[in-house]
Parts: sequence; C-alpha cells; structure tokens
Amino acid sequence: MKKKLKFNSKVIHGGQSLEKGYGAVMPPIYQTSTYAQTSPGKHLGYEYSRTHNPTRTALEKSLASIENGNHGFAFASGLAAMDAIIKLLKPGDEVISTNDLYGGSYRLFDKIFKDFGIKFHFIPMDKTSLIKSLITKKTKLIWVETPTNPMMNIIDIELISNISRNNKILLAVDNTFASPYLQKPLNLGADIVMHSATKYLAGHSDVILGSIVLNDDVIAEKIRFIQNASGAICGPMDSFLTLRGIKTLHLRMKRHCKNAKKIAHYLKSHSKIEKVFWPGFQNHPNHEIAKKQMKNFGGMLSFIPKGSDYKSAVKIVEKLELFTLAESLGGVESLAGHPASMTHASIPKIEREKSGVVDSLIRLSVGIEDVEDLILDLDKAIG
Ligand SMILES: *Cc1c(COP(=O)(O)O)cnc(C)c1O
Repeated sequence: MKKKLKFNSKVIHGGQSLEKGYGAVMPPIYQTSTYAQTSPGKHLGYEYSRTHNPTRTALEKSLASIENGNHGFAFASGLAAMDAIIKLLKPGDEVISTNDLYGGSYRLFDKIFKDFGIKFHFIPMDKTSLIKSLITKKTKLIWVETPTNPMMNIIDIELISNISRNNKILLAVDNTFASPYLQKPLNLGADIVMHSATKYLAGHSDVILGSIVLNDDVIAEKIRFIQNASGAICGPMDSFLTLRGIKTLHLRMKRHCKNAKKIAHYLKSHSKIEKVFWPGFQNHPNHEIAKKQMKNFGGMLSFIPKGSDYKSAVKIVEKLELFTLAESLGGVESLAGHPASMTHASIPKIEREKSGVVDSLIRLSVGIEDVEDLILDLDKAIG
C-alpha cells in the first residue's frame, strides 16, 4: 500500500518500515562506523558506514519516495551531491547550465570541474533555440535550476526534457527552491533530481545535507559507486534530522507559500519598492510555466528598493529584526540576504549583473511565523 500513498502520507511513511529490534517508531540513529560479521563476508546487510548505514538508508528511501523516484542517495551537502553527478562525466564532455545559478554551484562548475576538462555553457534557459544551438556530440548533461536563485525565473522542465531526450543528454534539475511538495522534476521528464536538503527538506536550519533521486538503474549504480568511492556521505545524526524535517514538509511549504504571497503583494504596493520578483504575479514573465509545473509559488522572493544602491540595500537588511540576515533559506524562520555581497559574491560582478543580480537586490526566505509580524518588520526597515 505504501507505494500508492499520496504526498502528505509519503512524507511521513514513504519507504519507511518499522525497526525490528524493539519496534522503535522512529528510525534509530545508528551511530556506528562498522558492523559485526560472524564469518568473513557474513553479516546482516551492512559492512561499513561509508558504504551504507541504516539511518541513511531510511532517509534515502524517504527521499526516493517523495520525489517519485526509484533510487535515493544522501550526501554530506548539496554541493557534494552535485559533485557526484558531475563525476558521471569525463574530460572533454560539455554541460549546458542555467546562468543564474546558486553561487556555490557556479563555483563548483567554474573553479573545480572546468580544470578537469569539462566545459560549461551558462545560458538563460527561456529560449530553447539557444540550448539547441549549443548541443554537440560532446554535450552530456543539461543542468537546470528552477526557480532560479535569486531572480525567481522559472524554467520549463518538460520543454527542456524533450530536447534532452531527443539528443540523448542527461537532464538534472536542482529542485532546492521548490521542494518536491511543489514540483516533481522526474515526473516532468528529468533524469536526475538534486537537492540541497539543507534548505526546505530538512527545514529547520540545523543540518547540511544533499540528495540525489533518479529512476535509471544503470545511472543509480554509478552514483552508488561514486558515493562510496569518493565518500562525501552524511552521518547518521544528520540523516535522522533530515528525515524528521521531511515529515512536516507539506505543512511547512503550505505556510511558506501563503506568507510569501502576502509579503509579495505588500512589497508590490509599497511606494518605496521598485520591483518585486515572485512567480505568482500574473505579469511575471514565467507565470504560466510556474502555474503549469508547480503546485504553488514557493516561499522565496527578491525585491529592489526604489533608487537604492549597494549601501542603502545593506542598510535595509541591517535594520531587519525578525528577518535574520543570513545565508541559506528554507528554514521555519525568515531570513533576509543581500546576494551581491553574500550568496553571489563568488560570481564576477559582470556575470552577476547580466542575470539581474544587481547591488541593490534583496532576497527573502519567508518563514512560517505570523505574517503580520513579518510585514511590520519589513515596514520598519524600508521606512
Ligand atoms: C544551498 C544550495 C545549494 C548547495 O547546497 P549545500 O547544502 O549548501 O551544499 C545548491 N543549490 C541551491 C539552489 C541551493 O540553495
């Protein structure tokens, strides 16, 4: 029956089975590096915790279940998960990637893997003609992040999956901003879905963890091999915390979306705000795609105060009290960020501004507090 569960039941029960030893309802934290064998090679299914650990297995099964995939993998961080995906490639291979990418993803591609002979094309993905024009025999992967960070562009996953399928190229989607509650890339034709589970999946800003979910058995074996051979795994405690976070994902996401919608409208009607980036607005350039592929519009938004520059934007985020000025997103508490100096500081200014990340841009991760309090806080800071 568990295979057919609806999403709100899957977050709690998906892939889970009762612990056999004492009937513990929650999966125990198996804080062990190794497992006893009765004779060489004779054991209860676990040998060494880099390869596998029962708490991690419970999480990996949950991840696969909520993304509607066959295979789930948990890593030490979102970037460790991405690192494993890029290791499917070889020198000479090429990747076509979303241009307004999470800063750390850009850094991994441009500062690490470029030196290993992999070529990355960073492009806006609203025009499929541009993607098609870059495809050669060397193109092995299309990397999509949607909604994008921090400009909240929406990329049509289904449309791009048609191109990747036709050209036998893998399509990987960073689903961090949406979470599987809002968007299921595998259902839309993607081959691999990746998460920084640090954000909405774990949801409480108390753990760093990454995930990969996919369907294909052959690619899954390769990822399993890389996970063990490179060893960027997460520990049992972090696996437990993420699994616990996932159990309330549906409730949290609903509230994140509701609060963000109210704040987006509040900011839009504010006389001192120039522009608000939130895919729920009818005049957002990708509103129709968002409506098609997402259940709701998410908890993230960005805005530009009128006539502001680097200094005045920084002043606003400094004045916020309930919104904590911090990197990261997706936790129960509201956070504010200044991408130009924080999350996107590793991207050169010229590259950054090409995708709209100007010095005056402010990003909000809207939490699940009382929205009236959040609006009061913004009102005071904007002045
Ligand atoms: C945070 C983030 C990452 C990196 O994940 P870590 O868990 O910090 O390694 C990747 N992609 C997106 C969209 C993110 O927000």
